Amino acid sequence: MNKNDLILVTGAGGFIGGSLVRYFTNKGFTRIRAVDKKPVPMWYQRTPVVENLCLDLSERQNCVKAAEGAVEVYQLAADMGGMGFIERFRIECLRSILINTHMIEAAYRAGCQRYFYSSSACAYNVKLQEDPNCRALKESDAYPAYAERGYGWEKLLSEMFCQEYWAERKMRTAIPRFHNVYGPWGTWDGGREKAPAAICRKVIEAKDTGKKDIVIWGDGHQTRSFMYIDDCVLGIDKIMHADNLIATPINLGSSELISINDLVSIIEKIGGVKLNRKYDLTAPRGVGGRNSDNTFIKKMLAWEPSTLIRKGLVPTFKWIEQQYKDRKAGKETVRDTI
Ligand code: NAD
Repeated sequence: MNKNDLILVTGAGGFIGGSLVRYFTNKGFTRIRAVDKKPVPMWYQRTPVVENLCLDLSERQNCVKAAEGAVEVYQLAADMGGMGFIERFRIECLRSILINTHMIEAAYRAGCQRYFYSSSACAYNVKLQEDPNCRALKESDAYPAYAERGYGWEKLLSEMFCQEYWAERKMRTAIPRFHNVYGPWGTWDGGREKAPAAICRKVIEAKDTGKKDIVIWGDGHQTRSFMYIDDCVLGIDKIMHADNLIATPINLGSSELISINDLVSIIEKIGGVKLNRKYDLTAPRGVGGRNSDNTFIKKMLAWEPSTLIRKGLVPTFKWIEQQYKDRKAGKETVRDTI
């Protein structure tokens, strides 16, 4: 890539897209077009030198406009959130297929050299994830297909588009399957937040209000792995530019498995409190266990996401605490509602 080549980042008003724009800006890229359907003042991060556009990419003509002149396209726009969102709003999740269908065609017609699609561990067969002690998921575990209803099936089908645009039309595509991403600038309130941010917020709230209870979704034995945002953006760059990974789904996640109960304990320690745990067994809890098998990424890139959860949660907690204080003081904060 030439530093003056045009890069398009979609979903740039959200968590990962916004962080990716900052990453490329810091690397010295001078022409970045950032697109999101949210009005620009509502974007989580705004980088002034970047061309920031508010466009709904489920509309074909907006994708054509966004892709014009782009050498690389990073497609991170999706209607998404944590379990509380994807279990309740399956239609919205499925409708993200419009974004990728129009965007990949527009990118191809614009002569884009590389196209990145953010897939998800939710594309994996849920039957392999019932037990909290399940084995880590390897790339071949997506088939026979039994993806997460709604969100996961959309990811699986969009992956297939990326594979066929390479097979039939020779457009290079990159297809990482992200496993839970967390860090500063992630959604932390409003209904779309994921477990690490939600638990940080609950601990901060408990400290602030003096109420010593915390409500945990499910029985707390569910297990997950969580990838720190800096590992995620670096992994995006590496996978996008790896010629041995074209059109190849690959895990991009941490392989450090942790139960939700242990996650709460780490966050309590960071916050300096101990809370009474109440378990809401009626709340969305997702699969029993999910981890990333990193054998393939280590083989292909000699690299894997390595930030330990207890390390990455420190800046995340600090950032959410500041957001919480700012909101209380009536200042502008990151917020996305359902
Ligand atoms: P996010 O919700 O913070 O960002 C997504 C952005 O897409 C939002 O700002 C939203 O406004 C925008 N968007 C939605 N519909 C749009 C449309 N029609 N046109 C234009 N913009 C639109 O989510 P994120 O965490 O940054 O996730 C980015 C991508 O990574 C998504 O594709 C998501 O499915 C995938 N992913 C994320 C995680 C995670 O843990 N965060 C895990 C797996 C996969």
